[in-house]
Amino acid sequence: MSEHPTPDVLILGAGAAGLAAAVALSGAGARVSLLERKPFVGGRAYSYPHPALDEVIDSQHVLLGCCTNLVDLCNLSGASQHIRWYDTITFLEPSTRSTPSRRSDIAPGWLPSPGHSAFSFLRAPMLSLADKFRIALGLLDFLRSYPTGDDQPFSAWLQRTRQTERAIRHFWEPIIVGTLNDTFDRCSTRYAGQVFHESFLKSAAGGRLGIPSQPLSDFYASVAHLAVQQGTNLHARTSIDSIDHLPSGLWQVTASNGDRHHAPTLLLALPFEQTARLLATLPETSAPRQRIEPLLSHFTHAPITTVHLWFDRPVTDLEHAALLDTRIQWMFNKTLIRRLETADAPQGQYLELVISASFSELRQTSEQILAFALVELARFFPTVREAKLLKSGVLKEARATFSVTPGLDRFRPTPDAPGDNLYLAGDWTLSGWPSTMEGAVRSGRLAAEAIARSTGNTATFLTPPLPPAGLMKLFSR
Ligand SMILES: Cc1cc2nc3c(=O)[nH]c(=O)nc-3n(C[C@H](O)[C@H](O)[C@H](O)COP(=O)(O)OP(=O)(O)OC[C@H]3O[C@@H](n4cnc5c(N)ncnc54)[C@H](O)[C@@H]3O)c2cc1C
Repeated sequence: MSEHPTPDVLILGAGAAGLAAAVALSGAGARVSLLERKPFVGGRAYSYPHPALDEVIDSQHVLLGCCTNLVDLCNLSGASQHIRWYDTITFLEPSTRSTPSRRSDIAPGWLPSPGHSAFSFLRAPMLSLADKFRIALGLLDFLRSYPTGDDQPFSAWLQRTRQTERAIRHFWEPIIVGTLNDTFDRCSTRYAGQVFHESFLKSAAGGRLGIPSQPLSDFYASVAHLAVQQGTNLHARTSIDSIDHLPSGLWQVTASNGDRHHAPTLLLALPFEQTARLLATLPETSAPRQRIEPLLSHFTHAPITTVHLWFDRPVTDLEHAALLDTRIQWMFNKTLIRRLETADAPQGQYLELVISASFSELRQTSEQILAFALVELARFFPTVREAKLLKSGVLKEARATFSVTPGLDRFRPTPDAPGDNLYLAGDWTLSGWPSTMEGAVRSGRLAAEAIARSTGNTATFLTPPLPPAGLMKLFSR
């Protein structure tokens, strides 16, 4: 058991939230210690060398141009040179007995926002004119902004705006289930509207798709490196079992190996269930526990399953695509996405398939999921039937995201809600965003602002949103 020097702030958790807070606070001159239980950083956005597959795997994460805080953090740390940006999103319909698979490319053209994608949208064969008409009418609802209240489920909005069955299947569902990771009745219209306002309407730049081209823990290692350069003390493999507020006013945290760390200020940058676990180590009567514990029972998880396939030959030249009429939402061609990061010219092709809101897959075996995925993939890329599958893996993340269920915002705490110099960050706190890396980075920066404020420092760390472009300058609130 050892004692460590006392920093100004102790941060628990080196996911996007904890890293963002560490960069902000150490950049502003605070002495920071960052404690992380895993050997690598990135939190849920992690990668690891899979021993049986002999490959570094991750669950592909994407960002959008409107994720201004994440983009800023990546610019500051140099991680941005490992993001590939795409203007075009390809939607693929599966082949049938009589028709080959069909693609619809949605991309910005020369029309000013909000009409920047209008030409490609009007040409897209995946939707009929009636579907497009309903979608356009629906999008008008989010032209000026999106609801400030979060009580209405998106399923009610779809019904109210009389969306057609195919518009739902080919447009609303791939985007909403892909970004909010849950079913329509468990997503609030506020966050669904935010996705469409920020990434579809406000500007073409806001809708650009960014894909990290490095394995995710390497990607976030650049951010950790920046924090360390600024003086942050990073302790990996340090799992905290309990927290105490000492009579001296210092916070004490005790790691599973018995090591103790102290600081006047403690920031928990953890998922909500880990926050609950540590709060439960405080006395029942402590104010932070009484204030935060009742909120936590309102949070629920949603799972994501990824399927990793290595073929002996290329089966597609697309770098990524949204797949329609199947349980699989996205295909990422990791061979092409990572091509500048790997020294050897690849022989075959590595694809990753993402199944969002994969509640039913949690109950299936990996073999069942793999068999299903191969059959489905062949409907989009027929070469799959001839290609040899060299190896494969299935990664189930049962606690991938928290669900932005209708009405949840009133239970999402602000960073200073616990009091007593205990602060909270993490995607689940009141970041203004759903469960995303941008939400996590925002939460870390908001917590850093609150901590700085408590010492009389009025520094601000949040990056402003992208400005509206074109005609959206007239519409946006
Ligand atoms: C499969 C999957 C796909 C996703 N896809 C996307 C996507 O495409 N785009 C997107 O924006 N978001 C995506 N997300 C969501 C995104 O990963 C999260 O919203 C974000 O990473 C959360 O960051 P965080 O810092 O709030 O929490 P976390 O990343 O969970 O970080 C918390 C950290 O705390 C550490 N920790 C926990 N307990 C302790 C303890 N007792 N002591 C010390 N350390 C502890 C953990 O090890 C972890 O490193 C996805 C998530 C998953 C799982």
